[in-house]
Amino acid sequence: MASILVIAEVQNGKVRESSYELVSFARRIAKAQGSEVRSLVAGKGASAAAEELAKKGGGEVYLAEHDLLAHYSVDAFGKAVRAAVAAASPGILLFSHTPIGWDLAPRIAAALDGAFVSDCFNVEESGKLVFLRRVFNGKLDARFVPSASPVVATFQPGATSPFEGALDGKVTPLQVAISPQDLRAKFIEVRTAQKQGVDLSKAEIIVSGGRGLGAPEKFPEVIQPLADALGGAMGASRPVVDAGWLPHAYQVGSSGQTVTPKLYIAAGISGAIQHLVGMKNSNFIVAINKDADAPIFEVANLGVVGDLFEIVPALTKAVNQAKGKA
Ligand SMILES: Cc1cc2nc3c(=O)[nH]c(=O)nc-3n(C[C@H](O)[C@H](O)[C@H](O)COP(=O)(O)OP(=O)(O)OC[C@H]3O[C@@H](n4cnc5c(N)ncnc54)[C@H](O)[C@@H]3O)c2cc1C
Repeated sequence: MASILVIAEVQNGKVRESSYELVSFARRIAKAQGSEVRSLVAGKGASAAAEELAKKGGGEVYLAEHDLLAHYSVDAFGKAVRAAVAAASPGILLFSHTPIGWDLAPRIAAALDGAFVSDCFNVEESGKLVFLRRVFNGKLDARFVPSASPVVATFQPGATSPFEGALDGKVTPLQVAISPQDLRAKFIEVRTAQKQGVDLSKAEIIVSGGRGLGAPEKFPEVIQPLADALGGAMGASRPVVDAGWLPHAYQVGSSGQTVTPKLYIAAGISGAIQHLVGMKNSNFIVAINKDADAPIFEVANLGVVGDLFEIVPALTKAVNQAKGKA
Protein backbone atom coordinates (compact mmCIF):
# COMPACT_ATOMS: atom_id res chain seq x y z
CA MET A 1 0.00 0.00 0.00
CA ALA A 2 1.42 3.40 -0.99
CA SER A 3 2.51 5.62 1.88
CA ILE A 4 0.99 8.86 3.14
CA LEU A 5 3.28 11.88 3.04
CA VAL A 6 2.73 14.74 5.48
CA ILE A 7 4.26 18.05 4.39
CA ALA A 8 5.17 19.64 7.71
CA GLU A 9 5.63 23.36 8.27
CA VAL A 10 8.26 24.82 10.57
CA GLN A 11 7.88 28.17 12.27
CA ASN A 12 10.51 29.68 14.58
CA GLY A 13 12.37 26.36 14.60
CA LYS A 14 9.36 24.27 15.67
CA VAL A 15 6.94 22.07 13.76
CA ARG A 16 3.60 23.90 13.62
CA GLU A 17 0.65 22.47 15.49
CA SER A 18 -1.30 22.20 12.23
CA SER A 19 1.33 19.71 10.98
CA TYR A 20 0.65 17.47 13.98
CA GLU A 21 -3.03 17.68 13.06
CA LEU A 22 -2.06 16.36 9.61
CA VAL A 23 -0.26 13.50 11.36
CA SER A 24 -3.53 12.71 13.18
CA PHE A 25 -5.39 12.50 9.86
CA ALA A 26 -2.53 10.56 8.25
CA ARG A 27 -2.43 8.03 11.10
CA ARG A 28 -6.18 7.56 10.88
CA ILE A 29 -6.00 6.84 7.13
CA ALA A 30 -2.90 4.68 7.55
CA LYS A 31 -4.61 2.54 10.18
CA ALA A 32 -7.58 1.89 7.89
CA GLN A 33 -5.42 1.24 4.80
CA GLY A 34 -2.52 -0.56 6.47
CA SER A 35 -0.12 1.98 4.98
CA GLU A 36 2.81 3.96 6.38
CA VAL A 37 3.06 7.59 7.40
CA ARG A 38 6.07 9.61 6.28
CA SER A 39 6.76 13.31 6.62
CA LEU A 40 8.85 16.04 5.07
CA VAL A 41 10.54 18.82 7.00
CA ALA A 42 12.22 21.36 4.72
CA GLY A 43 14.21 24.37 5.83
CA LYS A 44 17.55 25.67 6.95
CA GLY A 45 18.67 24.50 10.38
CA ALA A 46 15.50 22.42 10.66
CA SER A 47 17.04 19.23 12.04
CA ALA A 48 15.75 19.79 15.60
CA ALA A 49 12.24 20.24 14.21
CA ALA A 50 12.60 17.03 12.17
CA GLU A 51 13.82 15.12 15.25
CA GLU A 52 10.86 16.43 17.24
CA LEU A 53 8.44 15.33 14.54
CA ALA A 54 10.04 11.88 14.32
CA LYS A 55 9.80 11.47 18.08
CA LYS A 56 6.21 12.61 18.42
CA GLY A 57 4.67 11.73 15.07
CA GLY A 58 6.68 8.63 14.22
CA GLY A 59 7.48 7.14 10.83
CA GLU A 60 10.24 8.24 8.50
CA VAL A 61 10.82 11.99 8.47
CA TYR A 62 12.69 13.29 5.43
CA LEU A 63 14.85 16.27 6.30
CA ALA A 64 15.63 18.58 3.38
CA GLU A 65 18.13 21.20 4.50
CA HIS A 66 19.41 23.91 2.20
CA ASP A 67 20.32 27.58 2.42
CA LEU A 68 17.70 28.30 -0.22
CA LEU A 69 15.04 26.70 2.00
CA ALA A 70 15.64 29.29 4.73
CA HIS A 71 12.52 31.17 3.60
CA TYR A 72 9.49 29.79 1.84
CA SER A 73 9.42 29.97 -1.94
CA VAL A 74 7.30 27.78 -4.13
CA ASP A 75 10.27 26.93 -6.37
CA ALA A 76 12.63 25.74 -3.61
CA PHE A 77 9.98 24.03 -1.48
CA GLY A 78 8.43 22.51 -4.59
CA LYS A 79 11.77 20.86 -5.30
CA ALA A 80 11.94 19.53 -1.73
CA VAL A 81 8.44 18.06 -2.01
CA ARG A 82 9.26 16.49 -5.38
CA ALA A 83 12.39 14.90 -3.85
CA ALA A 84 10.30 13.50 -0.97
CA VAL A 85 7.74 12.18 -3.44
CA ALA A 86 10.52 10.44 -5.37
CA ALA A 87 11.74 8.85 -2.13
CA ALA A 88 8.36 7.88 -0.65
CA SER A 89 6.12 7.27 -3.71
CA PRO A 90 3.10 8.39 -1.69
CA GLY A 91 -0.49 7.68 -2.64
CA ILE A 92 -1.64 10.63 -0.54
CA LEU A 93 0.05 13.96 0.26
CA LEU A 94 -1.32 16.08 3.10
CA PHE A 95 -0.72 19.84 3.43
CA SER A 96 -2.11 22.33 5.93
CA HIS A 97 -4.58 24.82 4.48
CA THR A 98 -2.23 27.70 5.22
CA PRO A 99 -0.67 30.27 2.86
CA ILE A 100 2.13 27.75 2.14
CA GLY A 101 -0.38 24.96 1.52
CA TRP A 102 -2.53 27.19 -0.72
CA ASP A 103 0.51 28.03 -2.81
CA LEU A 104 2.29 24.70 -2.94
CA ALA A 105 -0.34 21.96 -2.82
CA PRO A 106 -2.20 22.68 -6.11
CA ARG A 107 1.06 23.07 -8.00
CA ILE A 108 2.30 19.73 -6.67
CA ALA A 109 -1.02 18.08 -7.56
CA ALA A 110 -0.80 19.47 -11.09
CA ALA A 111 2.86 18.48 -11.45
CA LEU A 112 2.08 14.91 -10.35
CA ASP A 113 -1.08 14.75 -12.45
CA GLY A 114 -2.92 13.78 -9.28
CA ALA A 115 -6.23 14.64 -7.65
CA PHE A 116 -6.58 17.79 -5.55
CA VAL A 117 -9.00 18.44 -2.70
CA SER A 118 -8.58 21.64 -0.73
CA ASP A 119 -9.81 23.08 2.56
CA CYS A 120 -10.92 19.74 4.04
CA PHE A 121 -12.12 19.43 7.61
CA ASN A 122 -12.30 15.66 7.78
CA VAL A 123 -11.52 12.43 5.99
CA GLU A 124 -13.28 9.08 6.16
CA GLU A 125 -11.78 5.76 5.14
CA SER A 126 -14.06 2.75 4.98
CA GLY A 127 -13.05 0.93 1.82
CA LYS A 128 -12.95 4.18 -0.10
CA LEU A 129 -11.36 7.43 0.88
CA VAL A 130 -13.79 10.33 1.30
CA PHE A 131 -12.62 13.90 1.88
CA LEU A 132 -15.07 16.32 3.46
CA ARG A 133 -15.18 20.08 3.07
CA ARG A 134 -17.70 22.73 3.96
CA VAL A 135 -19.37 24.60 1.10
CA PHE A 136 -21.86 27.46 0.78
CA ASN A 137 -20.53 29.30 3.82
CA GLY A 138 -20.59 26.19 6.00
CA LYS A 139 -24.21 25.31 5.27
CA LEU A 140 -23.44 22.04 3.50
CA ASP A 141 -20.74 19.38 3.73
CA ALA A 142 -19.43 18.19 0.37
CA ARG A 143 -17.94 14.70 0.10
CA PHE A 144 -15.18 14.03 -2.45
CA VAL A 145 -13.92 10.65 -3.60
CA PRO A 146 -10.73 11.26 -5.62
CA SER A 147 -10.38 9.22 -8.77
CA ALA A 148 -6.76 10.07 -9.68
CA SER A 149 -3.55 9.24 -7.85
CA PRO A 150 -1.74 10.56 -5.92
CA VAL A 151 -4.29 12.52 -3.91
CA VAL A 152 -3.13 15.92 -2.69
CA ALA A 153 -5.30 17.37 0.07
CA THR A 154 -5.13 20.45 2.27
CA PHE A 155 -6.67 20.44 5.75
CA GLN A 156 -7.97 23.39 7.74
CA PRO A 157 -5.84 24.11 10.82
CA GLY A 158 -7.85 23.11 13.88
CA ALA A 159 -9.93 20.56 11.99
CA THR A 160 -8.76 17.84 14.38
CA SER A 161 -6.60 17.55 17.49
CA PRO A 162 -2.83 17.48 17.02
CA PHE A 163 -1.32 14.00 17.16
CA GLU A 164 0.02 13.37 20.62
CA GLY A 165 1.89 10.12 20.42
CA ALA A 166 5.46 9.12 21.10
CA LEU A 167 6.22 6.81 18.24
CA ASP A 168 9.94 7.25 17.85
CA GLY A 169 10.35 7.51 14.11
CA LYS A 170 13.59 8.24 12.29
CA VAL A 171 15.01 11.18 10.40
CA THR A 172 16.41 10.52 6.92
CA PRO A 173 18.41 13.30 5.23
CA LEU A 174 17.11 14.13 1.77
CA GLN A 175 19.39 15.63 -0.86
CA VAL A 176 17.69 18.42 -2.82
CA ALA A 177 19.53 20.19 -5.61
CA ILE A 178 18.43 23.81 -5.66
CA SER A 179 20.33 26.65 -7.28
CA PRO A 180 19.61 30.40 -7.13
CA GLN A 181 18.54 30.24 -10.81
CA ASP A 182 15.65 27.94 -9.79
CA LEU A 183 14.10 30.73 -7.75
CA ARG A 184 11.91 32.97 -9.85
CA ALA A 185 11.44 35.49 -7.04
CA LYS A 186 13.97 36.94 -4.63
CA PHE A 187 13.26 36.88 -0.90
CA ILE A 188 13.48 40.36 0.64
CA GLU A 189 11.98 40.34 4.15
CA VAL A 190 9.16 39.10 6.35
CA ARG A 191 6.96 41.82 7.86
CA THR A 192 4.64 40.88 10.69
CA ALA A 193 1.19 42.31 10.05
CA GLN A 194 -0.14 44.85 12.52
CA LYS A 195 -3.26 43.54 14.25
CA GLN A 196 -6.31 45.66 13.53
CA GLY A 197 -9.30 46.18 15.80
CA VAL A 198 -9.51 44.34 19.12
CA ASP A 199 -6.47 42.37 20.17
CA LEU A 200 -8.05 39.53 22.11
CA SER A 201 -4.69 37.84 22.54
CA LYS A 202 -3.82 40.39 25.27
CA ALA A 203 -7.23 40.50 27.04
CA GLU A 204 -7.30 39.02 30.55
CA ILE A 205 -11.06 38.53 30.50
CA ILE A 206 -13.09 37.64 27.41
CA VAL A 207 -16.85 37.22 27.18
CA SER A 208 -17.70 35.47 23.92
CA GLY A 209 -21.05 34.97 22.31
CA GLY A 210 -22.05 32.43 19.70
CA ARG A 211 -24.87 31.65 17.32
CA GLY A 212 -27.06 31.08 20.39
CA LEU A 213 -27.36 34.88 20.63
CA GLY A 214 -29.64 34.68 17.62
CA ALA A 215 -29.29 38.28 16.38
CA PRO A 216 -26.52 40.90 15.97
CA GLU A 217 -28.07 43.44 18.34
CA LYS A 218 -27.79 40.94 21.19
CA PHE A 219 -24.01 41.46 21.30
CA PRO A 220 -24.15 45.14 22.40
CA GLU A 221 -27.25 44.41 24.49
CA VAL A 222 -26.18 41.23 26.31
CA ILE A 223 -22.51 40.31 25.83
CA GLN A 224 -20.77 43.72 25.80
CA PRO A 225 -22.33 44.86 29.13
CA LEU A 226 -20.91 41.80 30.91
CA ALA A 227 -17.52 42.32 29.26
CA ASP A 228 -17.60 46.00 30.34
CA ALA A 229 -18.67 45.12 33.89
CA LEU A 230 -15.73 42.71 34.18
CA GLY A 231 -13.28 45.08 32.48
CA GLY A 232 -12.81 42.58 29.68
CA ALA A 233 -13.21 42.28 25.93
CA MET A 234 -15.94 40.80 23.77
CA GLY A 235 -15.28 37.76 21.55
CA ALA A 236 -17.33 35.60 19.22
CA SER A 237 -17.54 32.28 17.44
CA ARG A 238 -17.15 32.02 13.70
CA PRO A 239 -20.81 31.88 12.62
CA VAL A 240 -21.25 35.29 14.26
CA VAL A 241 -18.46 36.68 12.10
CA ASP A 242 -19.58 34.80 8.98
CA ALA A 243 -23.03 36.32 9.41
CA GLY A 244 -21.45 39.79 9.54
CA TRP A 245 -22.62 40.47 13.11
CA LEU A 246 -19.07 41.30 14.25
CA PRO A 247 -15.76 41.89 12.41
CA HIS A 248 -13.25 39.06 12.09
CA ALA A 249 -11.00 40.56 14.79
CA TYR A 250 -13.52 39.27 17.36
CA GLN A 251 -13.39 35.66 16.20
CA VAL A 252 -11.86 33.10 18.54
CA GLY A 253 -10.74 29.78 17.13
CA SER A 254 -8.64 28.02 14.55
CA SER A 255 -9.39 30.54 11.83
CA GLY A 256 -9.58 33.45 14.28
CA GLN A 257 -7.54 34.40 17.31
CA THR A 258 -5.98 32.06 19.84
CA VAL A 259 -6.57 33.39 23.34
CA THR A 260 -5.41 32.48 26.83
CA PRO A 261 -7.17 34.91 29.18
CA LYS A 262 -7.51 34.44 32.93
CA LEU A 263 -11.27 34.13 32.46
CA TYR A 264 -13.14 33.05 29.31
CA ILE A 265 -16.93 33.10 29.35
CA ALA A 266 -18.64 31.34 26.45
CA ALA A 267 -22.35 32.07 26.07
CA GLY A 268 -24.43 30.31 23.42
CA ILE A 269 -21.35 28.59 21.98
CA SER A 270 -21.57 24.85 21.36
CA GLY A 271 -17.84 24.10 21.65
CA ALA A 272 -16.85 22.82 18.20
CA ILE A 273 -13.20 21.71 18.00
CA GLN A 274 -12.33 24.75 15.86
CA HIS A 275 -13.55 27.06 18.61
CA LEU A 276 -11.98 25.01 21.41
CA VAL A 277 -8.48 25.09 19.90
CA GLY A 278 -8.58 28.87 20.15
CA MET A 279 -9.59 29.12 23.83
CA LYS A 280 -9.07 25.82 25.62
CA ASN A 281 -5.85 27.04 27.29
CA SER A 282 -7.68 29.85 29.07
CA ASN A 283 -7.06 29.79 32.80
CA PHE A 284 -10.72 29.49 33.84
CA ILE A 285 -13.58 28.73 31.49
CA VAL A 286 -17.23 29.39 32.21
CA ALA A 287 -19.77 27.97 29.75
CA ILE A 288 -23.41 29.02 29.55
CA ASN A 289 -25.53 26.86 27.28
CA LYS A 290 -29.09 25.60 27.38
CA ASP A 291 -27.99 22.21 26.01
CA ALA A 292 -26.52 20.13 28.85
CA ASP A 293 -24.75 17.93 26.27
CA ALA A 294 -22.96 20.79 24.49
CA PRO A 295 -19.26 19.89 24.04
CA ILE A 296 -18.18 23.25 25.51
CA PHE A 297 -18.93 21.78 28.93
CA GLU A 298 -16.11 19.26 28.43
CA VAL A 299 -13.51 22.05 28.68
CA ALA A 300 -15.40 24.28 31.13
CA ASN A 301 -14.28 24.74 34.72
CA LEU A 302 -17.77 25.96 35.50
CA GLY A 303 -20.82 25.07 33.46
CA VAL A 304 -24.22 26.71 33.65
CA VAL A 305 -27.07 24.91 31.88
CA GLY A 306 -29.67 27.51 31.12
CA ASP A 307 -30.87 30.39 28.99
CA LEU A 308 -28.10 32.91 28.38
CA PHE A 309 -30.67 35.71 28.10
CA GLU A 310 -31.51 35.16 31.77
CA ILE A 311 -28.06 34.25 33.06
CA VAL A 312 -25.80 36.81 31.37
CA PRO A 313 -27.83 39.92 32.36
CA ALA A 314 -28.16 38.54 35.92
CA LEU A 315 -24.40 38.06 36.03
CA THR A 316 -23.80 41.59 34.69
CA LYS A 317 -26.10 42.99 37.34
CA ALA A 318 -24.38 41.01 40.10
CA VAL A 319 -20.90 42.16 38.96
CA ASN A 320 -22.00 45.79 38.77
CA GLN A 321 -23.62 45.53 42.20
CA ALA A 322 -20.48 43.99 43.65
CA LYS A 323 -18.50 46.91 42.22
CA GLY A 324 -21.02 49.35 43.69
CA LYS A 325 -22.09 50.47 40.22
CA ALA A 326 -25.74 49.51 40.44
C1 LIG B 1 -12.11 24.86 8.87
C2 LIG B 1 -13.00 25.44 9.89
C3 LIG B 1 -12.54 26.47 10.66
C4 LIG B 1 -13.36 26.99 11.66
N1 LIG B 1 -12.89 27.99 12.44
C5 LIG B 1 -13.64 28.39 13.49
C6 LIG B 1 -13.16 29.37 14.40
O1 LIG B 1 -12.07 29.92 14.26
N2 LIG B 1 -13.94 29.71 15.44
C7 LIG B 1 -15.19 29.16 15.64
O2 LIG B 1 -15.87 29.53 16.62
N3 LIG B 1 -15.67 28.24 14.78
C8 LIG B 1 -14.94 27.87 13.71
N4 LIG B 1 -15.45 26.98 12.83
C9 LIG B 1 -16.88 26.62 12.94
C10 LIG B 1 -17.13 25.53 13.96
O3 LIG B 1 -17.03 24.25 13.36
C11 LIG B 1 -18.56 25.67 14.52
O4 LIG B 1 -19.47 25.62 13.45
C12 LIG B 1 -18.77 26.96 15.29
O5 LIG B 1 -17.77 27.11 16.28
C13 LIG B 1 -20.13 26.91 15.96
O6 LIG B 1 -20.39 28.18 16.51
P1 LIG B 1 -21.41 28.32 17.67
O7 LIG B 1 -21.01 27.46 18.82
O8 LIG B 1 -21.57 29.78 17.93
O9 LIG B 1 -22.78 27.84 17.01
P2 LIG B 1 -23.60 26.51 17.22
O10 LIG B 1 -22.77 25.31 17.04
O11 LIG B 1 -24.82 26.65 16.38
O12 LIG B 1 -24.02 26.54 18.76
C14 LIG B 1 -24.90 27.44 19.30
C15 LIG B 1 -25.10 27.02 20.76
O13 LIG B 1 -25.92 27.97 21.42
C16 LIG B 1 -26.74 27.28 22.33
N5 LIG B 1 -27.88 28.13 22.60
C17 LIG B 1 -28.86 28.53 21.74
N6 LIG B 1 -29.71 29.37 22.34
C18 LIG B 1 -29.27 29.52 23.62
C19 LIG B 1 -29.73 30.26 24.74
N7 LIG B 1 -30.80 31.05 24.67
N8 LIG B 1 -29.05 30.15 25.90
C20 LIG B 1 -27.95 29.37 26.00
N9 LIG B 1 -27.47 28.65 24.98
C21 LIG B 1 -28.12 28.72 23.80
C22 LIG B 1 -27.08 25.98 21.63
O14 LIG B 1 -27.44 24.98 22.57
C23 LIG B 1 -25.76 25.66 20.92
O15 LIG B 1 -24.94 24.82 21.71
C24 LIG B 1 -14.65 26.47 11.83
C25 LIG B 1 -15.10 25.42 11.02
C26 LIG B 1 -14.28 24.92 10.06
C27 LIG B 1 -14.75 23.78 9.21
